[in-house]
Amino acid sequence: MTSPPTAGTRPDEVRRHNRAALLRRLHVAGPCTRETLASELGLNRSTIKTLVDGLAEDGLVEERLPAQRSGAGRPSLLVLPQPQAAVVLAVDIRVEQVATALVGIGGDILGRCSWSLRRKTREPREVFTKIIDTSELLIEELAVDVVAVGVSVPGTVRKSDGLVHEAPNLHWSNVALGDWLGRTLHRPVHVGNDAELGALAEHLRGVARGASDVVYVTADVGVGGGVISNGSSMRGSGGYVGEIGHMVVNPHGRQCYCGCRGCWETEVGEHALSRALGIPEDSPRGAIVAELRGLVGKPDETLSRLGDFGEWLAVGLVNVVNLLCPQLVVLGDLFTALPDVLVEQVGRKVRERSLVSRALGGTRIVTSSLGSDVKLLGAAELAFEPVLASW
Ligand SMILES: [Zn+2]
Repeated sequence: MTSPPTAGTRPDEVRRHNRAALLRRLHVAGPCTRETLASELGLNRSTIKTLVDGLAEDGLVEERLPAQRSGAGRPSLLVLPQPQAAVVLAVDIRVEQVATALVGIGGDILGRCSWSLRRKTREPREVFTKIIDTSELLIEELAVDVVAVGVSVPGTVRKSDGLVHEAPNLHWSNVALGDWLGRTLHRPVHVGNDAELGALAEHLRGVARGASDVVYVTADVGVGGGVISNGSSMRGSGGYVGEIGHMVVNPHGRQCYCGCRGCWETEVGEHALSRALGIPEDSPRGAIVAELRGLVGKPDETLSRLGDFGEWLAVGLVNVVNLLCPQLVVLGDLFTALPDVLVEQVGRKVRERSLVSRALGGTRIVTSSLGSDVKLLGAAELAFEPVLASW
């Protein structure tokens, strides 16, 4: 819903504000009729007609009859965003893999490419060069113009210039990634923490759509958190918010690379899950997922093998919920492979033990609905945010 213009606002500013709000509505929530736009944006029909006609002239939207007709009479035209009219480059850097994609307005992935990161090829300059090479190939293949770039990194990122301060599981420190990419691609580059971007994607396009207060928990080799507070990303000073994987939950636990002992990450990260499953700590992701799939339909065995793991998951989540008061916690990445019976048990424990959850009538604990694309989509949204605001 757009906010009403303030008194004294100039007509061209009002028009720009309304145009951006309409485009954002179509981008995030998909095609709809002019009537729906008028009602959702609180604007009259003639204003909507002028805005839609202007956007169509600029090639950003088109109007089309719906593919499926409902009811009698002439169906209303749908207003659709034109994906090729505004395309961003999204990059998802993970510990084991990098993915790049071109994402059009409306959120469709138009083309993609990914490659594995072996220990020896994680050197920042090598990753940077490969991102540039694959992006140029994708752009050439699709023959599109890229308006901005969004990048997801599993580490602490300075919002102002995309400096990766620390990405411990990649062994990166003080990498000027935003600066390097901006100088080579000659486009605005926005770099964000992977959990922050997971939260953004789930909030706009996934299971947390419509919720104003959300925590997304990422679980790759490391564990992190992204927070949507009152409908916006919480970024903290410098953009470094969300290192919930380094909450100390077990003072008698294992030593963590961050300098503390018994961080949540050491109790519920990928290595901890492998230990809980009784497989080697450095098992590949595929082996962990296969082991978890083998537990489907075996609730007793699941809870007996993963009961302690689930307890640590609940302990950390109670802290997170008490601190941030979300309506919804979304478990991402490796946690999406956890058997339902375990997730349900963890959810019950959090609701029983958290004061905040009891006051809210029960925080929901759910798994991500966007699969492995969640951070790519989040990186695309990070790039789209300023683009949509300026149109
Ligand atoms: Zn730690």
